[in-house]
Amino acid sequence: MWTLVLNCGSSSVKFALLQAESGETALLGLAERLGGPEARLVLTRGGQKTESAHPDVSYAGVFTLLLSELERLGLREQVGVVGHRVVHGGEKFSAPALIDAAVLESIRACIPLAPLHNPANLAGIEAAQQAFPELPQVAVFDTAFHQTLPPVAYRYAVPEAWYSGYGVRRYGFHGTSHAYVAQQAARMLGRPLAELNLVTAHLGNGCSVAAVSGGKSLDTSMGLTPLEGLVMGTRSGDVDPNLHEYLARQAGLSLEEVTDALNRHSGLTGLSGLSGDMRQLEEAAAQGHAGAVLAVEVFVYRLAKSVAAMSVALPTLDALVFTGGIGENSAGVRAKVLGRLGLLGFSLDEAANDAAVRGGAGHIGRPGSTPALVVGTNEELMIAREAARLLDSVRPAAGGQA
Ligand code: AMP
Repeated sequence: MWTLVLNCGSSSVKFALLQAESGETALLGLAERLGGPEARLVLTRGGQKTESAHPDVSYAGVFTLLLSELERLGLREQVGVVGHRVVHGGEKFSAPALIDAAVLESIRACIPLAPLHNPANLAGIEAAQQAFPELPQVAVFDTAFHQTLPPVAYRYAVPEAWYSGYGVRRYGFHGTSHAYVAQQAARMLGRPLAELNLVTAHLGNGCSVAAVSGGKSLDTSMGLTPLEGLVMGTRSGDVDPNLHEYLARQAGLSLEEVTDALNRHSGLTGLSGLSGDMRQLEEAAAQGHAGAVLAVEVFVYRLAKSVAAMSVALPTLDALVFTGGIGENSAGVRAKVLGRLGLLGFSLDEAANDAAVRGGAGHIGRPGSTPALVVGTNEELMIAREAARLLDSVRPAAGGQA
C-alpha cells in the first residue's frame, strides 16, 4: 500500500507518494504559485525532475494532474491513505486524527491561531477529499508533538482569563520534524529513545529548538504562533512585547504593518538588509558584507542561547541534534553554535562537521564530548508513518463491526 502525503500552503501544494515502512518514494511533487499566471508543477520520479507550466491552475486542478500522474504510474489503485500536514491543532489534537466532519470543524476552530496556514490546509483537505473520495484521510498536526509540554513550559505569565478564554499559551511547531529526528538520533546513538534526553534544532526557513525527553517534547522555542523564539529567515523571533505599541506611536504603523514586518521582513532578512537565505549570507559574509556578518552572528548567538535554555527542561543532556536546510548543510553555523556551548560539554570535530552535508547524517563532536549529531529530517515519511499507524489502529475495529 502506498501513502500519499500532502502539504498544502496558501499558493502551493507539496506531495509525496511513499511506502510508510521502507520510505521508498515513487513520486515527489511541488505545485507552486497556484491560481497565478506562473503556476507550475515540478515532479520528481526516480531522481528525474520534470517541470510543466499550468497557468491559473487551482487546487482542484492540481489534484486532477496528480490523479492522472498516479494512473500513468499504475499506482492509482494502490494508494491506501492520504496524510495531510496541518499546522495548528490547538489543544484539541495531541495525535494524528482520521478526518471526518468533526475533525474538519476543529481544524476550522483553530484558524484564529494560524490564520495563514489552517485555511490553506483545509482547502487542500477538501480538494483531496473530492479527488480521492474513497480513501481515508489523516491529519497530522505540527503542534501535536508538543502537547506533552508541562504547564510550566506552555503557560505565559499573562492574565489567566487570556488562557482559558482565548487559548493564549505556547503550542510549538515543527513537531513532526522534531519527533522524527529524535527517533533517528536514538538509532545513531544506539540507545533506546525512551532513555534519551535531547535538544533538537530544526533550522530551515522557520527555526525552532525542542527539549525531547524519552521521545516526549518538554519545551520548545515557538509559542502561540510560529513567530516566537529563534531568529529565522524572515521572522524576528523574540522581541519585546511592547514593540507594537512603541512603533504605532513612534512610526505611525498599524498592528497589521508591524505584524507583517515581524513575519516577512525581519530575521536574517531584516538584519542583513540582503537576504533571508543562510547560504547566500554565508557567502556574502565571507566577502565582508557587514549586514550578513551581523545576521549570521545574531542567528548563532540566539540559537546557542536557546539550546542552553532548552537544556533546563532535561535531567541530563545526551545530545544536540541539527536538522533542516541550515542544520543539515551549514557547517559554519554548526561550528559557531558548538563554539558557544563549551559550557554544556560540546567540542567540535572539524573534519566530521565539514563532511556532514544533506543526506549525510553524522556525529560532529569529538570523542568524550557531549554528542552533537546532524540528521536529515523527513517530515513526509513521518506523516506517512503516522497515517499508516493510525489506520492500522482503527481498521480492526471497523472489521469487527462489519
Ligand atoms: P529548509 O526550509 O529546510 O529548506 O531550509 C532553507 C534554509 O537552508 C535556507 O536558509 C538555505 O539557505 C539553507 N541552506 C540550504 N543549503 C545550505 C548550505 N549548503 N549552506 C548553508 N545554508 C543552506
